[in-house]
Amino acid sequence: MHRRTLDSYARSSAAGGVSIAHQHQANFRRIEALSAILGKAVDGQSLGCPGWAQAVKRLESGASDGVVVYRLGQLIQDPDAGRLLADLARAGFAVYDSDAEIDLVIERNRDDDDDAVKDAEDYAPAHSTPVRRGDARRGRPPVNTYLCTGRESPVRCGNCGHHLDINTNARGKTYSDGVLKHHYRCLKTTGGCGKTIADWRVLDEIIEDIMLRWLSDPSVLEILREVQETRNMERQPLLKEIADRERRKAHWGALFNDGEITESELTHNLRELNAAIKAAQSKLGEIESVPLSTIDAEAIAQILEEWQNADSETKRADLHRAWEGFHVLVDPGSSTDDKDAVRRRVHRPRRIAEPVRPIGD
Ligand SMILES: [Zn+2]
Repeated sequence: MHRRTLDSYARSSAAGGVSIAHQHQANFRRIEALSAILGKAVDGQSLGCPGWAQAVKRLESGASDGVVVYRLGQLIQDPDAGRLLADLARAGFAVYDSDAEIDLVIERNRDDDDDAVKDAEDYAPAHSTPVRRGDARRGRPPVNTYLCTGRESPVRCGNCGHHLDINTNARGKTYSDGVLKHHYRCLKTTGGCGKTIADWRVLDEIIEDIMLRWLSDPSVLEILREVQETRNMERQPLLKEIADRERRKAHWGALFNDGEITESELTHNLRELNAAIKAAQSKLGEIESVPLSTIDAEAIAQILEEWQNADSETKRADLHRAWEGFHVLVDPGSSTDDKDAVRRRVHRPRRIAEPVRPIGD
């Protein structure tokens, strides 16, 4: 069995003046109770300090699978700390409490990340201030407020092609409106290359620009129609072949029922026909596993019309619809790059020509 590596985090600001050594002792006990291996004992002052940044770095680099924090429940009462920790949990990192009272652990459900994320939100302190722009209503999966995250997203890492995740600024830096800074990242923990992609708000703005311009371009619809037609032409002969063989199967069955052929003749004929049907179906499956845009002029018009007033969840859905069957690669770069610099790292939408690998691969 794979044993996880958990770091121990102790802070000088812990309430009650509990010594660092004592905090680590409590954390070590929890790590043992979790049947995990101790990675590193990290000391800091508070969340956002260099010690904490080190713990976060170890998580992001894959050096540790999680961290045990002394009296996490106490720490989480602070809205900023709670938000920071919930964000970490959302990004897939396990944050345990030394006392096992409140753990921020999302069991990653491969088929339904949104529900898992909703669970994490429930851990956030009730009095935490809204951190995200738009309509981050309670109970709504917060991941929806980020335009470019997620395995279904057309926006991908330009280095390895993996989907993007979001991280908070470990030192607690904020935008001018006081919202905690976030950046997109290709996470190692979910199978990516671990590189930073770009600042959250900067990339969202750019992707929005590019998508709206792309949809407004009449030649785009033409290309999509062509692709849809080509797909149809590839499918038709196979569908015909399958239908044809099914008819012949029925024919042989009728002959057998009428006593015109023996059972062994029937079995022989059916075996051949079934093999041919299976081969055609597998070819069909191959063709259909390459994602295809199903968007039409009407859907494009709808997206363009609703976009400005759409909530973030709708925007995410629209983005996926707009670039269904396409990838938009963003080369990794600094989270402090400005809009021009990030834009230069965003590639043109590219059609996915390869079958999509099954989820979790
Ligand atoms: Zn990557």
